Amino acid sequence: MTETKQATDLTHAKRERRLPALAVSRGIGIGRISFFNGERRRFFRLNLNAEQIKDELVRFKSALNKSVLQLRELSAIRETAADQPVSDIFGVHLLMLESSLVNKVETVISTHRANSEWAIRMVLDEYAEKQESISDPQFRDKYLDIEDVATRLLTALGGSPANTQNNSNAVIVARDLTPSMIMELAKSKPAALITEQGGWTSHSSIIAREFNLPMVSGVRDLEHFALIDDLVIVDGMNGEVILNPSDKTIVEFRPLISSNEISTALDNRTNKGTSTSDGAHIMIRANVDQPEAYVSAKENGAQGIGLFRSESLLRRPGEVPSEDEQAAAYQRIADAAGEQGVNIRTFDVSIDRLESDSRSSERNPSLGLRSIRLSLTQPAQFRIQLRALLRASFDRKINVILPMVSGLHEILRAKEIIEKERINLIKDAIDIGTPKIGAMIETPSAVLTANKIAKNVDFLCLGTNDLVQYLLAVDRDNDSVADWYQTLHPAVIRAVGEVLAATQNAGIPTTVCGEMAGSPFYVPVLLGLGAREFSMNVNSIQPVRQLLSGISIDDTVTLVEKIKTLDTADEIEICLREYYLENWSGLFPPGLLSVRHR
Ligand code: PEP
Ligand code: MG
Repeated sequence: MTETKQATDLTHAKRERRLPALAVSRGIGIGRISFFNGERRRFFRLNLNAEQIKDELVRFKSALNKSVLQLRELSAIRETAADQPVSDIFGVHLLMLESSLVNKVETVISTHRANSEWAIRMVLDEYAEKQESISDPQFRDKYLDIEDVATRLLTALGGSPANTQNNSNAVIVARDLTPSMIMELAKSKPAALITEQGGWTSHSSIIAREFNLPMVSGVRDLEHFALIDDLVIVDGMNGEVILNPSDKTIVEFRPLISSNEISTALDNRTNKGTSTSDGAHIMIRANVDQPEAYVSAKENGAQGIGLFRSESLLRRPGEVPSEDEQAAAYQRIADAAGEQGVNIRTFDVSIDRLESDSRSSERNPSLGLRSIRLSLTQPAQFRIQLRALLRASFDRKINVILPMVSGLHEILRAKEIIEKERINLIKDAIDIGTPKIGAMIETPSAVLTANKIAKNVDFLCLGTNDLVQYLLAVDRDNDSVADWYQTLHPAVIRAVGEVLAATQNAGIPTTVCGEMAGSPFYVPVLLGLGAREFSMNVNSIQPVRQLLSGISIDDTVTLVEKIKTLDTADEIEICLREYYLENWSGLFPPGLLSVRHR
């Protein structure tokens, strides 16, 4: 793209603009834009106004000072190591930061009204052109030094203006946000999140819902037409981003913003369990990764932790906690759950999370060496995790879940390893417990062999997020195929029904623990299919309990019989919505029945 064309495209016009998006965390947020990752600013030009130019020059100056300090330190270290040639390089870099390069960047910022990253790129390109015409390789190499200095400056600029702090009431825009980034961001209470990538059941979306942060995904290249501090409304109910909303639009949305708050008027009886209107007891558990989070789950009526994703202990690739560290972490989460216990799932990750230097980047990680497959091929790591689980379950109520099994063979193999470690620990006179062993049903092959699996485990967990993904062959993290991710697809309804029937026959419990279990729209379907145990994120507990207390098992069974006769997810959705509006409309959270649920 030529510079003139780029500048024209990026010209900032403060008129309202509506962009379609995928709603992944319900709620409406309004705030000023903050680009999460400074990285992206490197490639785009932002048009600044007079006030912003002053700030930008200060921003550039502070990045410059930071880089100078770094280079002085590096230079000093090398000098004391008497490593003169290397020290010289940093000296040269320092000289560059005192040269005309800096003035040129400042001039571009002021005259072109551009951001520092873009100005650095402009100046650098000019140097590059000159350098290319020089034939002497020694001089040509100097260009690499300039590039190096520029990278240092860009990195120093990188953390600002958007980072994980001070985002109160801002709308964070990012290409992608990992679950841990969202957890960090949530501390400063942003108004909403906008990403390019992610689906409703992506782990990031799950975490956003856990923190009650409105979020939409599938919004590409917002940098092209939005500026830092532009006002934006994020409609996480209907899936829309409204950039520079008019006063009329703001007035329309204002009343909806407060409705993000979970209604406190909902059923507040805690620790009394949850029952349907015809008296069937329903077990509600929480999906929780932090012991502290269970406090509010319990206050909301959770009876134990239905899913602890142990991979939340893996902070960085290759940094796997030791047996002692894991045992302590499992003890903490089990202590938080108390008498009602916790289901701890073994690492449900692909190889790049366990090994920092993994050379085998997989072409198709969702179908690759992951979850139980990875554990079985990395027995040393698996043993450490199992030993930690056996030790932590001494005097504590811990159950173990094996993720993403494709059949009975993996379960039998895992049980053999557990047995061996149990014997080893007993030999060493180490106290251990006897955790129940369950399997996560997430693949079509596990569904089709659920009756065999159910006879060999103590319980099952239905991981509906992955079940939909694998059954329908649709990437749950890819917003481009979100329309194909159909929770109400007749195949999903049938698969869930068959798994629940298999466990009933085998006399073992099943916990439904994907996002389907926490959405009031799907809960009556699960109930009618035979589900009696649900595990969900903390914010779903009250709305689901309120709904359950007003509906009967009989009605849900009749409803399910009806939807089983329908052919498509769309037909099922329409049928459910009509039924809900006619019979149970007051039992659903406001607005829930007016948005799409496929
Ligand atoms: C699931 O797949 O439904 C599930 C609960 O596990 P995760 O979302 O961690 O894959
Ligand atoms: Mg899963």
